[in-house]
Amino acid sequence: MPSRTGILLLVSGPSGSGKTTLCRRLADEQEAHYSTSCTTRIARPGEIDGHDYFFLSREAFDAKIAAGDFLEHATVHDNSYGTLKSEVLQYIDRGIDVVMDIDVQGAAQVRACTDSQIRNALVDLFVMPATDEELAARLTGRKTDSPEVIALRLKNAIEEMAHWREYQYRLISASREEDYSRFRSLLIAERLRSARLVHDSSTEPLTHS
Ligand code: 5GP
Repeated sequence: MPSRTGILLLVSGPSGSGKTTLCRRLADEQEAHYSTSCTTRIARPGEIDGHDYFFLSREAFDAKIAAGDFLEHATVHDNSYGTLKSEVLQYIDRGIDVVMDIDVQGAAQVRACTDSQIRNALVDLFVMPATDEELAARLTGRKTDSPEVIALRLKNAIEEMAHWREYQYRLISASREEDYSRFRSLLIAERLRSARLVHDSSTEPLTHS
């Protein structure tokens, strides 16, 4: 039996904030399971089906909605994205932390979830660049998207940034290493939360009488 239930760490932030890199590194260092999402978006060069996303047709995505397979789903930049329950529930139940990259609409849906397992597991963080200029520079730096796509992402990013106060935590991006160090520290601190510790009288600390 695990000594605690897992954390569900939701990470949002505008495209170019570096949130995906943070989430991936946490998973690569085996600190957490990365929840791979489903999307109807076309794969970018180099993206791998089943690793970056499960790339689905519109029909296949809609079939998953109908089957109740999603914990949440939303339309972002004209495409659908969704988190599979199977990428989350079995892990947190086994005491394995789960990290996910999710937009503000999806995060709001998870936050509104009444399931006690989800509510107890939930930690949410908004990652953002220090300034709008920094954001624009980061978005333009990604060469895989067309100018129209970049312009749409910048508009959406500015709208998305207005939501940071809905999150428990906010990280203003600095250097990669500093961001990661603060990000990992957040997860490590959250592991100490007493509400997620499984009660076991044999491991109760001694009390002073
Ligand atoms: P991208 O297409 O650049 O990989 O992601 C676009 C946006 O979709 C990002 O803001 C990302 O956080 C969000 N996203 C990725 N997966 C999910 C998901 O499963 N659900 C929701 N609601 N948003 C997601």
